[in-house]
Amino acid sequence: MHVETYQRLRAQCAQKRVTLVIVSKTRTAEQIGRLYALGQRDFAENYVRELCEKHALLPTDIRWHLIGHLQRNKVKQVVGFVHCIQSVDSIELLDSIQKHARAHGRVVDVLLQVHVAQEENKFGFLPAQMPHFLQFIADHAHQYTHLRICGLMGMATFTQDQAVWRREFTLLREVFTQARDTYFAANESFRVLSMGMSADYETAIEQGSTLVRVGSLVFDAHPFTN
Ligand SMILES: *Cc1c(COP(=O)(O)O)cnc(C)c1O
Repeated sequence: MHVETYQRLRAQCAQKRVTLVIVSKTRTAEQIGRLYALGQRDFAENYVRELCEKHALLPTDIRWHLIGHLQRNKVKQVVGFVHCIQSVDSIELLDSIQKHARAHGRVVDVLLQVHVAQEENKFGFLPAQMPHFLQFIADHAHQYTHLRICGLMGMATFTQDQAVWRREFTLLREVFTQARDTYFAANESFRVLSMGMSADYETAIEQGSTLVRVGSLVFDAHPFTN
């Protein structure tokens, strides 16, 4: 782990008022504990099983984010403790989180995942579908009593071409701004735009990100070679 890189990243995010979420997938509880000792509280995992195992081992004031695809039948495993599910990619999943959060007497933060990358293996609503789904969610907002819809999440195409990330982040920001102003104008929670990872977080912040998800930059000696 690179303490100096972490501290620099943290200062950079604080200065820009961007939330720094450390992606801890494949890292040990001990590695996470070291960042916790430095004051880091937001961590993200991709897989339910790994998330549950680490949650059981680590301090309870960690804010856990789920950023990987979530199957509906696994919602109940995480809903009792998860802070934010960033990877909501269907209305069915939203309904399931609502149902289980209610049963647990919790309110869970969620982000809607938007598919802006050129890869087919990524999940999320397509930008062109967003108005349809946002209208549906807005019309049913009174039913979502145990969710807080806090914004959008997206990932750029995995490429070295910075022009591609920039274009995709710009598109995501436009979708976000339109969603906020058109469908969530009365919802003060809707203000998170989660975009940017190790390789592209600076471009993402430049394009309006309010939350970055960074893993390898902090944990690996050679973040861009894996
Ligand atoms: C792994 C992952 C990250 C972090 O990627 P790094 O390149 O390690 O910073 C961010 N977001 C998602 C959705 C991921 O799966």
